[in-house]
Amino acid sequence: MAEKGRISVNTENIFPIIKKFLYSDHDIFLRELVANAIDATQKLQKLASMGEFNGELGELYVQVDIDKEAKTISISDRGIGMTEEEVKKYINQVAFSGATEFVEKFKDQDTSSIIGKFGLGFYSAFMVSKEVEIFTKSYQEGAQAVKWSCDGSTEFEIENTEKENRGTTIVLHVNEDSEEFLEEATISGILNRYARFMPVEIRFGTEKITEGEGDDSKEIEQPKVINNTDPLWTKDPKELKDEDYLNFYKDLYPMSEEPMFWIHLNVDYPFNLTGILYFPKVKNDITLHKDKIQLYSRQVFITDNVEDIVPEFLRLMHGVIDSPDIPLNVSRSYLQSDAQVKKISNYITRKVADKLNELFRDNREDYEKKWESIGLFAKYGMMTDDKFFDKGKKFLLLEDIDGKKYTLDEYKSLISENQVDKNDNYTFIYTTDEGLQHSYIEGAKRKGYNILKMDSMIDSHFIQNVEHKLEQIQMKRVDADIADKLVEKDEETKHELTEDEQTKLVELYKKALGNENLELKVEALSAEESPVTIVKPEFMRRMQEMAEMQGGGGMFGMGMMPGSQNIILNGNNALIARILKEENEAEAHKLARHTYDLALLSQNMLKGSDLTNFINRSLELV
Ligand code: ADP
Repeated sequence: MAEKGRISVNTENIFPIIKKFLYSDHDIFLRELVANAIDATQKLQKLASMGEFNGELGELYVQVDIDKEAKTISISDRGIGMTEEEVKKYINQVAFSGATEFVEKFKDQDTSSIIGKFGLGFYSAFMVSKEVEIFTKSYQEGAQAVKWSCDGSTEFEIENTEKENRGTTIVLHVNEDSEEFLEEATISGILNRYARFMPVEIRFGTEKITEGEGDDSKEIEQPKVINNTDPLWTKDPKELKDEDYLNFYKDLYPMSEEPMFWIHLNVDYPFNLTGILYFPKVKNDITLHKDKIQLYSRQVFITDNVEDIVPEFLRLMHGVIDSPDIPLNVSRSYLQSDAQVKKISNYITRKVADKLNELFRDNREDYEKKWESIGLFAKYGMMTDDKFFDKGKKFLLLEDIDGKKYTLDEYKSLISENQVDKNDNYTFIYTTDEGLQHSYIEGAKRKGYNILKMDSMIDSHFIQNVEHKLEQIQMKRVDADIADKLVEKDEETKHELTEDEQTKLVELYKKALGNENLELKVEALSAEESPVTIVKPEFMRRMQEMAEMQGGGGMFGMGMMPGSQNIILNGNNALIARILKEENEAEAHKLARHTYDLALLSQNMLKGSDLTNFINRSLELV
């Protein structure tokens, strides 16, 4: 006789709530049901290993089937099964005791990854079903099989049934809106995503393989196993070769280039975490590489959105993290402040820093070769994490325009003679574009300065950051000032021009260039320096770059910010002296214009009609 009853529930009806909450991610139901089947299987294995189950274990696997005609999906296991009492206890009651709490807490949040933790996993079946049946037989000797069914209301039915094998079969009668789940490709896709590394064999559909060789060979059809039950990260690192890691990487990211190196994570205490993180070869486009880490909990895929678990800069890494200790039953904003998550994130950061340090120490040559990619991690890490910054100071490399690489300490000692300014600051001179800044680089070289290459996307941010965190270091782009002034010294070169002459010169240029507002300055430079140089003071240039990055050039539109470009007139240059003495005003203006155009030209800034005029004028002068 079938017994009818009411599922005990405090809320009116849980199903509309589940449907509403999980609407965005219906796929989850399969993960939950397959994970339950696997749990039940592992529990039985455990009992057997403890000698508490002495029956025949048989072949242990989870079978997933779809029946298009009957419109059902079924998930079967040969695990511990349930007695009638257990069904009543675990399915009818437990599920809903958590439900009220669940609803209270997570009204407004993304709940897809936490549903299982509230004993609601099984009920996610109702997202796609109009009716769910459980056929189950406990492992206990002489157990009576039972059938439970429920149509999505709070009413259920339970009765005795015949079942040959121990274990549980869940049958979902798929509802009209969810018929996509009766497609093989859909189910395959979901299983591949969530169950790919689950620890018990999962079978779905069949595949044809050829058996035997030559004439004796024949095609046979066999069940298709969709998962790898012991993925690489669960193995002992001592037993693994480079090749294994590379193959696993290829498995995870078939389209990606080979990674540079990897770390095998393995901790028990104070939290449990395993995994493998790979350093991909990162080129300039960071976003391409970002957010590919997969998070698992005991081999069950949870998410590839590791935003709050893995420190920001490590999101460039690839690979797998598996930890039952990452509390998924809390909201994401809470995760960030969770002590456990902090510990995990610190641990990963430390491991990565140690790995980089080790590579640097053990094989500097190789490390230098890989620096282009490693540098991105190192710099990104140093910018976003203070602890990492401290470690990174040892293995950060600076590259100069000749391709030589130095650690911070090495570099400081290299420039200690020549590039320390009057305030005892080390002046790091860098270029972001060797072609465009060529004339400035030549000038700086004449002064014997070393010039660093800072041309990667991350460098402009990194520069700010290093200055901020390290004392007595000042970064200046090579065109921030005339070579003589890049490193500020006390010594003054003697002015050949009187103050009056200087004022006169500035006025003359303003007139010649037809702009009263130009920032013109007369400096006493060495005679062989150009008559006119255009410089972009470091601070103002950075402000402008920042404004541009925030979109549209900020309040100055696309134009130049005042002060972001200074024109330096070399008062000690012979040509300047000549312009000043020239009695014919038109001639003086022409020469002034010409010297200014030359300065623009050296910066690739002379364009359009200005360029044409310049060429014509040059021909005339020649
Ligand atoms: P959770 O798995 O989080 O406990 P579920 O709602 O998914 O919550 O399942 C509730 C309980 O029902 C499980 O803890 C387990 O005791 C029982 N159960 C579910 N599926 C199976 C199964 N396939 N075999 C045996 N017991 C099961």
